[in-house]
Amino acid sequence: MFLVGVAVVVAVYGGLRSNQRENAERVMDQRTAMVEAAVRTETERYRSLIETTAAGISTDTDLTWDDFDTATAPLASANLIGGASLAYVVPAREAQIPEVQRQWRARGAEGLTLRPVVAGEEHFFTIFTRTLNAYSPQMNGLDVAAAPEAATALTDSRRTGQPSVSDTYVLLRDRNLPAAEQQRSFVFAAPIWTQASIPVFRGWIILGLRGADFLRGVLATVSQGQLDGELLATGRDGGRPVVADYTVGGQPDLQRSVDILVADREWTLITRADASHLPGASSTLPLTLLLTGSAMTFLLAGLVYVLATGRERAVARVRVATAELRVAEEESRRQAELLGAIMASIGDAVGVVDENGAFLLHNPAARKMLGVAADEDDPASWQQHYGLYRPDGRTPFPVEDLPLMRALRGESCDGVEMIVRNAQHSEGILVSVDGRPLDTSAGRHGAVAVFHDITELRRYENDLAVFAGVVAHDLKSPLTVIRGHCEAAVEDLDDAPADARGSLGRIILAVDRMAALIDTLLAYTTARDAPLRTREVDLGALVGAVVHDRTAHLRDEDQPHIYVGPLPAVTADPAMLRHVLDNLLGNALKYVQPGTVPRVDVTAHGTGGPWVRIQVADRGIGIPDDDKPDIFDSFHRAHAEAGYAGTGLGLAICRRIVERHGGEIDVADNPGGGTRFHFTLPISQESDMTKDDEAATRAALERALAERAAMENARLPGLGALPAAEPSAHDPAAARLRTPVPDHHPAPAGPE
Ligand code: ADP
Repeated sequence: MFLVGVAVVVAVYGGLRSNQRENAERVMDQRTAMVEAAVRTETERYRSLIETTAAGISTDTDLTWDDFDTATAPLASANLIGGASLAYVVPAREAQIPEVQRQWRARGAEGLTLRPVVAGEEHFFTIFTRTLNAYSPQMNGLDVAAAPEAATALTDSRRTGQPSVSDTYVLLRDRNLPAAEQQRSFVFAAPIWTQASIPVFRGWIILGLRGADFLRGVLATVSQGQLDGELLATGRDGGRPVVADYTVGGQPDLQRSVDILVADREWTLITRADASHLPGASSTLPLTLLLTGSAMTFLLAGLVYVLATGRERAVARVRVATAELRVAEEESRRQAELLGAIMASIGDAVGVVDENGAFLLHNPAARKMLGVAADEDDPASWQQHYGLYRPDGRTPFPVEDLPLMRALRGESCDGVEMIVRNAQHSEGILVSVDGRPLDTSAGRHGAVAVFHDITELRRYENDLAVFAGVVAHDLKSPLTVIRGHCEAAVEDLDDAPADARGSLGRIILAVDRMAALIDTLLAYTTARDAPLRTREVDLGALVGAVVHDRTAHLRDEDQPHIYVGPLPAVTADPAMLRHVLDNLLGNALKYVQPGTVPRVDVTAHGTGGPWVRIQVADRGIGIPDDDKPDIFDSFHRAHAEAGYAGTGLGLAICRRIVERHGGEIDVADNPGGGTRFHFTLPISQESDMTKDDEAATRAALERALAERAAMENARLPGLGALPAAEPSAHDPAAARLRTPVPDHHPAPAGPE
């Protein structure tokens, strides 16, 4: 396509160029013909003018200046191009010169002085002269024989009786001019013969012409400034002297040559021209066409190339895209299969709904756990369809509180417990549900929920609580027996050495420490796992009871300074709350410098909401800053080396209990010395404890204890008669956790 286009453009360009060349040749021919005609016409006109003038004068036998002036007047107005002067010339031999001078002076040639220049037989003197332009002076009396070229022309014309033209030379009258102004010139000479039967020769009429002026005048009008010209004469010696040349500039590439008969000589006219200056030959059309055509060919070829290869490239792109798509499809299929396999294999139930609550997917575990074959896509019907209840097993679970609905509202939630009871699960199962809004980067809005069946776990926890109580009882019973026997031995060994009695005393102390440790561990387990039984608790009365227990046995001088401010009623598990207060008060009384009377302030402050902030502040030894962040961790003790007794579990129990009530606990320095503990509790709220739970747990515990007691009595007969062990006086926290609370409400059941 490109080659064809280029070939066509080049061919058209070549055609146009050759056409232009032909045009130029034609124009050149025309112009040359016109110039030739002009030169021929002009020279012919000169020849005939002087011939006519010569003929006119020849009849006048007594030629005077006036006659000459009259006869040549028409030539003066004939606009002879290049014409310098017109003269009447007569021949004279050396000896005749004075006579000839006298004769012509008589005929009107005033002041004529014949000045022979060259020595010779014959001289040719100008008698009368008419100048043909302003700057040529009249110059009579000149000897034309001084210019051999002119003299030859005179003799030739006299001999032939015809006008003759001379070879080129510088006119005599111009020889005084500066060299630059001198031109190659020539003369036309016409002989004057009388008309008598025997003609008599009288002289000549000569017309001097300046070659350059002549040629410029002719060419300037005819060639319109487009041709150079050169006029060559044919010398009598056979040479080709240049008469005149004329140039117009440019780089001539065309040339013509024509011969012209001028009087009796053959001259040659040479014309030259730059083709690009000739009309019709200098158009920029071929070049424009070449450039435009080449550009268009290139563009067209490019377009064809793009079109031709475009399809191929598009197909290649489609192929690549298809391959990528296949890989992506394969990858997403693999991901989907992996996800499906994971979903199918995990035991927890997973359900995903769209923004309207319609199920997008769920795994087999979800179907099994929810126990319903068909999905229900209307959230309003979920409660009934799946049989969803609050953990009490009776209250229908409010739709708006369901984890999936909360997640659809953009709220994440964890561990929302609910009972699922329907045809499949007639007894009901306890599930814990985590809800999350679906990440919109997954492509759509929605929510995902994960269901864990915690029925067994909860049952296990309950059993564990029961078991803990039983173990505590089982461990403590032998301790009680050991203690009893030790005390009896001490009494029996009144007379024994002090060492033996001391050993028994240390056994009793060790037994007490072990019992206290069991109580604390039991309290720790209870605080963590035992069901929360909240009710309205008179905080003031509870603090009063704890203070009483802590101080009643002390002597007056050992009594600590304890201030209890006004305290509100709160909603809490009284036994657990008592444990918190007892622990904080106990620590405040314990961690003081030896010999110092402890000082404790128990106050309450509002929080602006349904919570009260309780503060227990002391003036004790304080807690180093480094220890404060870890003080609520299990077994962390700040002053272990200082000799203060303890297990490092008390504050861990307090934090667990407070957090289970939904509150917070923290510690800070007491300005002025000592420590301040704060914790928050809800102000007086209805208990959500169910009497059924309480009764069930209590019954299970009593049954277990009864069984263990029966077994123990069976294995150790007689031991049952021993008095039961008292709670440790050293650290009776766990025992007091199980102690009935001295308020106006019935005491809760403990794990015992
Ligand atoms: P412990 O059985 O050691 O008292 P706790 O958990 O009750 O265990 O307390 C943890 C540690 O916190 C204690 O060992 C003690 O160093 C520090 N502590 C607790 N209460 C106070 C207090 N009121 N003043 C100073 N130090 C305290």
